[in-house]
Amino acid sequence: MAVKLTAGLTDGLIDKSIVELASCPGLFCPTIAIDGILTRIRTPGGIVSCVQLSTLARVMERSGCLQLLITNRANIQLRSVENLTEFDLNDLQDAGLAARNPDVDHLRNVMTSPMAGLELGAFDVVPALREIEQYICETPKLAALSAKFSIGIDGGERVSVRDRANDIWLVAENGGYRLVLNLGQEWRSEIVSDDPVELVRAVADRYLQYADQVVNKSVKHRRSRKPRLRDVIEWIGKERFLDGLVDCTISEDTASPVPTFVPTLGKRGEAELLHLQEDPHRIGLEIVCALGKLTIEQINGLIAVLEGFELGEIRLTPWQTFIIPNVLRSSLESVKIALSAIPLNPNSNHPARGVIACSGKSGCASAATHAQEHAQRLIAQLAKYPDRPFPSIHISGCEKLCAQPRGSDTDRDIVLIGREVNGTERYSIEQYGLGYGLLCPDDAIAQIITSLTAKND
Ligand code: SF4
Repeated sequence: MAVKLTAGLTDGLIDKSIVELASCPGLFCPTIAIDGILTRIRTPGGIVSCVQLSTLARVMERSGCLQLLITNRANIQLRSVENLTEFDLNDLQDAGLAARNPDVDHLRNVMTSPMAGLELGAFDVVPALREIEQYICETPKLAALSAKFSIGIDGGERVSVRDRANDIWLVAENGGYRLVLNLGQEWRSEIVSDDPVELVRAVADRYLQYADQVVNKSVKHRRSRKPRLRDVIEWIGKERFLDGLVDCTISEDTASPVPTFVPTLGKRGEAELLHLQEDPHRIGLEIVCALGKLTIEQINGLIAVLEGFELGEIRLTPWQTFIIPNVLRSSLESVKIALSAIPLNPNSNHPARGVIACSGKSGCASAATHAQEHAQRLIAQLAKYPDRPFPSIHISGCEKLCAQPRGSDTDRDIVLIGREVNGTERYSIEQYGLGYGLLCPDDAIAQIITSLTAKND
């Protein structure tokens, strides 16, 4: 199904009816931003094969998209000049980058560790990921779920994404999966099943059973929108929501801890970002790309490297980098040299590492500031101090703090919150627990550089 847009991008002419129809971009419901058409391609688990990368490159070339963005849910966002055609959409569907049924495509919003199925000692959740994706694609009634419905699957990997918010988590445990609900904060249910699809199906069915009542009677301010899963659970009560949900096995090991969260950004000061695999001869090589952006030239170069070294896929991370898994240790240096020519950078001290920005005014109607542009300027300043380790810096265009993961280190990280003051762009800085008042973007950047370099002197 091709999406017909009636507005061009020239002269600032935007068809607002289309923008309002699709407040959250998808593949079949793009939104129009100031400088392009935004299309979001869901990549369950962040897994993108070399063949899929080639498809993406073709679609980008045809639609006038010069770069893609790795989102903070390890999906892909295109910002193109031309609307994707029916031919493009078919190409993406054939490559497995889109559901055949456009109504459920956006629900392929399933997150796993980027090292899923590769780490020693972790449970391989990739088969569960694929089964759940297939279930979503083949179940039309799921189109009635909230568009924000999201699933995480945790196999206890060392490279963890458990600090990311999802409506439900399936946590590998005792050979099965424990259902963990997001009720504002995670709540670990007693339900453990060896069938991950059955858990998702049961949660979805119960949501669909009650969602209409919640919209009409409980969440009045959301009358025109579908309630989130947690709204439904809150309305009917979690005991009632879970009662008889699944013919499940009850874990007797109720005291066993939830797997330990580990910092997603790894250690700084190391020359490279390498991730150990179960296969001792192979390793995952993480690549930093500033603000998650990859140009079409970089993608084509990456495809050539992957093909040259017989590497089949990349894994996108929610911290907007990507990992090349299965690199033979014996060819690691050759791979790095080939990547540096593109250029792609495996250096953990890259100045862009740790700088995370939301789309800001160039892609979000709620934004008070141009967060992306300000992040670029900050990275340019950080690049003047190449050998210094910096904390993570999160730049959000408004108080919703989309650039700040839930589990970020609030004592160590720096957080910039965009605000509009009398029509001007301002940031408040939260740094090491201190507030710096409201500053214009350049003053905020200068303040960060001053305090970071002073700390490191
Ligand atoms: S933090 Fe605000 S401006 Fe940024 S993406 Fe979220 S809602 Fe939009």
